[in-house]
Amino acid sequence: MNNQQMMQRDLAHLWHPCTQMSDHERYPLIPIKRGDGVYLEDFDGKRYIDAISSWWTNILGHGNPEIRDAIKDQLDQIEHVIFAGFSHQPAVELGEKLAALTPGNLNKCFFGENGSSAIEIALKMSFHYWRNAGKTDKTKFVALKNGYHGETLGALAVGDVALFKETYAPLLMEAMLVDSPDCYFREAGESWQQYTERQFVAMEKMLAERHGEIAAVILEPLVQCATGMRMYHPVYLKLLREACDRYGVHLIADEIAVGFGRTGTMFACNQADITPDFLCLSKALTSGFLPLSAVMTSDAVFNAFYDSYESMRGFLHSHSYTGNPLACRSACATIDLLLRDNWLEKNQRTQQLLRHALEDLQDHPNVAELRQTGMIIALEVVKDKASKTPFDWRERRGLRMYQHAQQHGALIRPIGSVVYLMPPYVVSDEQIATLTEIIRTGLPLMVQ
Ligand SMILES: *Cc1c(COP(=O)(O)O)cnc(C)c1O
Repeated sequence: MNNQQMMQRDLAHLWHPCTQMSDHERYPLIPIKRGDGVYLEDFDGKRYIDAISSWWTNILGHGNPEIRDAIKDQLDQIEHVIFAGFSHQPAVELGEKLAALTPGNLNKCFFGENGSSAIEIALKMSFHYWRNAGKTDKTKFVALKNGYHGETLGALAVGDVALFKETYAPLLMEAMLVDSPDCYFREAGESWQQYTERQFVAMEKMLAERHGEIAAVILEPLVQCATGMRMYHPVYLKLLREACDRYGVHLIADEIAVGFGRTGTMFACNQADITPDFLCLSKALTSGFLPLSAVMTSDAVFNAFYDSYESMRGFLHSHSYTGNPLACRSACATIDLLLRDNWLEKNQRTQQLLRHALEDLQDHPNVAELRQTGMIIALEVVKDKASKTPFDWRERRGLRMYQHAQQHGALIRPIGSVVYLMPPYVVSDEQIATLTEIIRTGLPLMVQ
């Protein structure tokens, strides 16, 4: 089998996510045969550095032998078992590890199968908590503009991606959107912190006016990833935590993309020293080995559901594969390795390397901003730098970088015209040099 043959068999039956399928008449689909560390290898034997960690999941490398062995060991014991009325060791251990690792008093863990289902769970739990507390008016959710929380209907409703929202609008509950602290739009001379604080005024106003009907505020701490790696200062989280407490509103932190060290701390919330009421985790939770998500919450939330069966206060949510043992086992192995091998500390150096390798591109006439939070670095490529005028989205300039990278042995998948690197933590200095060179040589193709 070669790439061409595999592609043809694929296209006969498979429908891919986030893809206009007709694109594959022109742009080849790449069938991957195996992975090794940061490398993916296709059926023609060509290798690619996975510079986006396979959609931000794979932090410790493809085929990581220790995670692989943990899963193999688990496979010899129990592959899956119903999680209602039954339990198993990997879930128990993962619950313990997550309770210890996450900030503050997040002591209870509810599993889902992917990021979107974690969001659905958190939204339902928040609403149901208030209902159990007799506050039946609290049915609404506040979210940030330009946010992304997944693509099932509840998650889509609290997100703000224009294309999705417009298309599916008639199906969605109405969320209350507030201006984002996204520091790309700060004034010249204004610091991230100043701009972020200024942007909080809109949130404060929303909460002051409508807290009686608001169950929770949901946001992506520090980086709005899916909408172009837009970043803000941690002070927003501090102010928001304080305001949520003051107004009796839950705070849902969607750390699905940024959890487990991506922003430089174990969780982005750590940088503001806050504890959300709900913390949603997925993606890097299993280092990209198996689908799994978790919603962490407090004993106080848990206790609001804890009553006799007939009280009908119990939480109503289930997925067939809830708490899958293989997935939980891969998550336990991921957390063990993250801590044992001091990845957060090692990443400090990698973050510096990334910045040094790309820093001078700030001065490029088509780069409006180079920004970085931890192990995420992004270039905002624009038509006009002074006015921050973007290229027309129909020109699909990001695709030029994608193809250029592909030819030169890397998976770099810009979001619109935002070029970013979000590599596995195991990336080497040499691989960083290769990736940043590809960006350098690809940039002229994007802007010409
Ligand atoms: C990816 C993502 C989701 C959705 O997770 P899926 O597993 O793709 O459903 C939700 N929130 C954020 C911030 C994400 O990056």
